[in-house]
Amino acid sequence: SPPRESRDKQAAKEVEKKDGQDGPGTRGTPRVKAPDDLPVAAYKEKIIDLLLEHPIIVVVGETGSGKTTQIPQYLLDSEKFHCLFENKRGLRVAITQPRRVAAVAMARRVSDERGTRLGDVVGYSIRFEDNSSASTRLRYMTDGCLLRECLGDPDLANYDVVILDEAHERSLHTDVLFALMKRAVSNRAGQLRMLVTSATLDTGAFSEYFACPVLEVPGRSFSVALHYHPVSRTQRVEAAVNVALNLHVREGPGHILVFLTGMEECEQAVSFANSKLQNMVDSGKQVSDCLIVPLYGMMQSDDQRNVFEEVPDGCRKLVFSTNIAETSLTVAGVGYVVDCGYCKQKNFNPKTGMESLQVTEVSQVQAKQRAGRAGRTQHGKCFRLYSEETFSRSLPKVTVPEILRSNLASVTLQMKAMGIEDVVRFDFMEPPDRVRLVKSLRLLFLIGALDADGGLTDLGRRMSQLPLEPQYGRVLLAAAEAGCVSEALTLVSMLSSEGVWYRPSKQNAEQWEEALAVQERFLHRMGDHLTLVRVFTMWEDEGCSPEWCKANFLHFRALRQARDIRGQLCDQLEKVSEASVRDAVRAVRNRYRDHRDRDRGRGAPKNGSSVEQALLQSLCSGFFMQTARMCGAGGGWLIVGENVLVKCEGGSAMDGSCAEWVLYTDLVGSTVANCMMRTVSAVAHEWLQPLLPKLVEVDLKRLVGVTQPRQNEQVEEPKDPAQVAKDREVKVGSAR
Ligand code: ADP
Ligand code: MG
Repeated sequence: SPPRESRDKQAAKEVEKKDGQDGPGTRGTPRVKAPDDLPVAAYKEKIIDLLLEHPIIVVVGETGSGKTTQIPQYLLDSEKFHCLFENKRGLRVAITQPRRVAAVAMARRVSDERGTRLGDVVGYSIRFEDNSSASTRLRYMTDGCLLRECLGDPDLANYDVVILDEAHERSLHTDVLFALMKRAVSNRAGQLRMLVTSATLDTGAFSEYFACPVLEVPGRSFSVALHYHPVSRTQRVEAAVNVALNLHVREGPGHILVFLTGMEECEQAVSFANSKLQNMVDSGKQVSDCLIVPLYGMMQSDDQRNVFEEVPDGCRKLVFSTNIAETSLTVAGVGYVVDCGYCKQKNFNPKTGMESLQVTEVSQVQAKQRAGRAGRTQHGKCFRLYSEETFSRSLPKVTVPEILRSNLASVTLQMKAMGIEDVVRFDFMEPPDRVRLVKSLRLLFLIGALDADGGLTDLGRRMSQLPLEPQYGRVLLAAAEAGCVSEALTLVSMLSSEGVWYRPSKQNAEQWEEALAVQERFLHRMGDHLTLVRVFTMWEDEGCSPEWCKANFLHFRALRQARDIRGQLCDQLEKVSEASVRDAVRAVRNRYRDHRDRDRGRGAPKNGSSVEQALLQSLCSGFFMQTARMCGAGGGWLIVGENVLVKCEGGSAMDGSCAEWVLYTDLVGSTVANCMMRTVSAVAHEWLQPLLPKLVEVDLKRLVGVTQPRQNEQVEEPKDPAQVAKDREVKVGSAR
């Protein structure tokens, strides 16, 4: 064969011929320009050459160095690189992000840099939102989305390059993709290239697992002065706002980035800061302009723009963000960081067998990342709302990867659907403990996705095709049979959207009271699930009016989002439904009202129960293991099969109720002792009776099947997340 170089040249000519229609360099007039001094720019050729030589490479570079926005473009614009691929359809690159917001923001930024329309050459795909087309060459997507694509196409024939971005975050989906990609790359014999990018240097694990070269891109950053300003945990929002406003009044140029834990806190801080600022102005203080904006994962795509938009000279941006701005998103020009020291983390609680979202201390690595955001373009300052001693003594060194602390049911189901039989022995980079995997198999068995031997059932296959946690998939499929699919779609969509309840700041006591009183009127006596359905139904009856939302202290955007999700879920459910119920599902789409008329007269749900009962009964199919029984009058509820006493979260329709049996879809709290049920409904014992015996019937050995546990393999109790963190630290520490 001809020497490589001449082959390349020849192929390059072929590409050139096609240029202008579909070749590299499809560009319009840029609307924005990438900064000229990005650290990765100097490594452009090096990256391309390495990736020509090796099917997998790792690139490490500090946040903001240009990895996410530039590297995909380098590949797209490199003729040399295009020549590597036999197919001549034009290079297709998938770039994964652990977070939706980041996928959208990055696609938008890159299409701006290229002067193309978003969704054309550069597009994005996130759950419930696809903005890409046949001409899309760079597709930014969530890692969950790519994982889902692996279901139908395990070798990812649609792509030539896959970039697993933000690998240091070790999100659950990215961790699973590591293994799937490793397999796909080897199956595609050189025709699939993979790039893993990471912001932190601890990449030993990656290079060992993939046996690949690591390229380090040195960054440039300025010093950041650290200030410690400890406050009590309950005062963090108020304290963060005060510190930020102080900075605004006293300090020179530079935007302010404040890290809080979640959407509620960010929204609360924004309104709090706005009113404080207004007070200052009213009392005649000279305060310069300040744009106050929130930034969190569930934000609608349009609202994110504010955060990145340039502000006029002399105006400062004050951004209240969740950990999303730690590494995935860069707000340009930040000079000051306020770090509350906490973040929300998904934690799988081995005691309750449940996953919950908990406010957790950040790790030292995270705290350093946060501080570093202040020193990207100038010498910065970081205010930590905890003591130096807390930092060094109490914060864990590194964050425990999600795969070691979350519910694995959805991922396990997808792996089973891809034909990976033995999930317990799967080639994970850092395998989750066996007990946790077995628990996920157990859950899948309980909801009928797996048979007693761990094989995927027909029901399981259909659940795996819905973009939902399997338990919710089970509810929809049950509802389709029970004649309440419309209500079930509404419920699941409401639970998938951002929260609908608008909670004014407590500072404004009058409004706070009013909101509670107004919202209370929606509460359904059977619980929060029917309450959510009721809110959505009333909103539709009011013509989906934003004014009605305002008057009732509801988030219009959340309802609108729920409506969009509902439409898409309906399509997907129709595809996976059995022929016998498909027509009923189809009838639901956009004809909510007709459907309810139908329920009133013509085809009411089977067995004469009301639609509402049918819905709650369908919920039981997916969540009967998340039920609890009243323990003494008003003493709380005891979770079935566990010795854990729980209460309802305040504000729940079931708070203060004496229902004998309740079902919950969420559990919140930071320890077993203060666990609380969120989103709770009353259920009838007769609905649970046929289901509950399954809990004790599971034969784990048979379910895990394939091989018996090896000696020394852990079979008893799963570890506590805190213990996992400690064990890991020892391991990581001794490896060095
Ligand atoms: P990395 O992936 O290495 O963290 P990025 O590619 O995301 O870096 O960003 C590179 C640079 O591009 C940033 O330092 C910032 O200056 C600029 N940038 C990225 N996204 C935006 C945006 N949405 N608005 C303005 N500038 C941006
Ligand atoms: Mg990035």
